[in-house]
Amino acid sequence: MSDTNIDPGFPLVDLHRHLEGSIRLPTIQELAQRHGVAMPADDLDGLRPHVQAIRAQPGLMAFIKKIDLSIQILADLDACRRIAAECVRDVREEGIDYVEIRFSPRYMAGPHNLSPEGVVEAVADGVETEAHNIGIRANLIGIMSRTYGPEACWEELEALQAQAGRITAIDIAGDEAAWPANLFISHFHRARDLGWQVTAHAGEAAGPESVRTAIHDLGATRIGHALHAIEDPALMDYMAEQQVGVEISLTSNVQISAVPNYASHPIKTYIDRGMRVTLNTDDPSISRITLPHEYDVAAPAAGLTRREIHQIQRNGLAAAFLSEQLRATLTREKTKGL
Ligand SMILES: [Zn+2]
Repeated sequence: MSDTNIDPGFPLVDLHRHLEGSIRLPTIQELAQRHGVAMPADDLDGLRPHVQAIRAQPGLMAFIKKIDLSIQILADLDACRRIAAECVRDVREEGIDYVEIRFSPRYMAGPHNLSPEGVVEAVADGVETEAHNIGIRANLIGIMSRTYGPEACWEELEALQAQAGRITAIDIAGDEAAWPANLFISHFHRARDLGWQVTAHAGEAAGPESVRTAIHDLGATRIGHALHAIEDPALMDYMAEQQVGVEISLTSNVQISAVPNYASHPIKTYIDRGMRVTLNTDDPSISRITLPHEYDVAAPAAGLTRREIHQIQRNGLAAAFLSEQLRATLTREKTKGL
């Protein structure tokens, strides 16, 4: 028996990976120095506890504070392009065949007052160029940061819309408890009119009603986290029946203290109920993890068998925002590569 739970004959995908949570630690240090950005420490070891979750954080917002600090180094559009390209290289290193990278242009633009439109263009350039160079497939998901409120989300949507053809899907993230999904219904209408797919962070820091709103009112065909869906059996059954993609990130969920440990994560229940569970990294640099870590360490610790983990790998491709044709191509390429 091989020592990994990843099936080498099937494509490996990461559907939920934040660019802002994927910045390499040495890049943070180097760009901080180059641009004279004040950091709590100058050396890597000193910097690490400030930008990485060494232990569980008291909640989602404490975790986000570490990302807040990491993005202070985005002093210009070159920095945005660079972290986008490095993210794609890291994805390849992890053995991932297809990735959906998500980012919030307004959030990235914030620290140095960059133009959100410019950020979208720089990120798309960085990802497309690097993906082409190293031969990997990557799509972009634009995030609206609800933390800034519905008005600011219109501006963020417009920044993404300026590069509409380079964006695959729309998402909403940030302070879910303070800004419920029903405030963003018209934003999602517009996004769907643009032909974008829809995923939404829901049920991470708010209850099952947040997941229901995301599916029924925002039009989400995938849900980020969906942890609180476990409180609502009818919702779980509906999600299983409709095959709503569930983007699970085990280590991230433990680190924000959404669950006390891997073993008490609802993932096992979701799989038993037939939900389309996928496994993803979320913020690999902040969490100090890779996707193989989630398959080989986190998933078994959450009580999953190898068979169930293989099914999760298949669910990932099924839930990916790809055409049926590309799905078949990825599978064929992987089989040929063996
Ligand atoms: Zn996320």
